Amino acid sequence: MIIVMKPEATKDQVQHVVDLVQEFGLQEQVIVGTDRTVIAAIGDKRGHEKQAIEHAAGVEKLVPILAPYKRASTEVKPEPTIVKVGPKGFPIGGSGPIAMIAGPCAVESEEQIMASARAAAAAGCMGLRGGAYKPRTSPYSFQGMQEEGLKLLAAARDETGLAVFTEVVSVATVDLVASYADVLQVGARNMQHYPLLEAVGRCDKPVLLKRGLASTLDEWLLAAEYIINAGNPNVILCERGIRAYEDYVRNTLPLAAVPALKARTHLPVLVDPSHGTGHAYLIAPMTRAAIACGADGVILEMHPDPEHALSDGAQSITPADLDELMPSVAAIANAVGRTM
Ligand code: PEP
Ligand code: MN
Repeated sequence: MIIVMKPEATKDQVQHVVDLVQEFGLQEQVIVGTDRTVIAAIGDKRGHEKQAIEHAAGVEKLVPILAPYKRASTEVKPEPTIVKVGPKGFPIGGSGPIAMIAGPCAVESEEQIMASARAAAAAGCMGLRGGAYKPRTSPYSFQGMQEEGLKLLAAARDETGLAVFTEVVSVATVDLVASYADVLQVGARNMQHYPLLEAVGRCDKPVLLKRGLASTLDEWLLAAEYIINAGNPNVILCERGIRAYEDYVRNTLPLAAVPALKARTHLPVLVDPSHGTGHAYLIAPMTRAAIACGADGVILEMHPDPEHALSDGAQSITPADLDELMPSVAAIANAVGRTM
């Protein structure tokens, strides 16, 4: 529930309500606004605590939280979360600049990742993507360069200043990946890997949480809630398409999820048009559509030589395609009140 304090409530009265909330075994989140303070009380409802808190001095009213997720909800925190990312602290979320992140599906070699990073930086991206640990459908497919790949990503960041987005696939490697990455990606296949969510929740690096292959928005936001509850409020959601019956695409990219999420959560929302479609020719139009419908940015696959990519070449654009795409993204960002 949310406890709305009266505008004239004193600090002592707020503290007394916090004490009551804790006494009832609930967790509090105090939000100090310009006019008044509100306190979110999070945990299992028992019933009797409602009465006690309602009677406390300085309390105006109690409002039940309707969403199954709490901390991820706009009911608890109406203002957008802005996640500062990478060496330059680029702000993702709110009404700030659009975040463009590009790079290969997987780190394959020093030459490949450096060429990708230079192309992404030259095009005006803020982030470089690239998997060092790859969650591959087949155990016979390329599994990634692992720590060697992380070192190459860190070197690419040192040269270009780009923020590094890379996936973590296991609890055992969270600390290792976090020591190199700027943003820890939790992939679609791991969206409901709860011990992994808790482990990245204990990290001090922002987390990019991709939507599960067949997950509802509630399931996705409850997954985000695990990360926030473990102590990490810096969660960025990424719509990457869901499994449907169409076969002209690898996944179906439901862009209506973007404004639907914005109505439910304060967390930033990115779109991945590469995994969302599976085809390079669909990346530019779906990138533009994503920004038009309110996404805070796009993470897409770009490879210096897609024909020879070790994974996901068909859904990777070239550096030249990226250069060509950027001005139209900037124009759309401008049209919807954002910048690049
Ligand atoms: C990826 O970003 O390379 C990836 C594996 O994505 P997803 O988890 O969305 O399939
Ligand atoms: Mn990929």
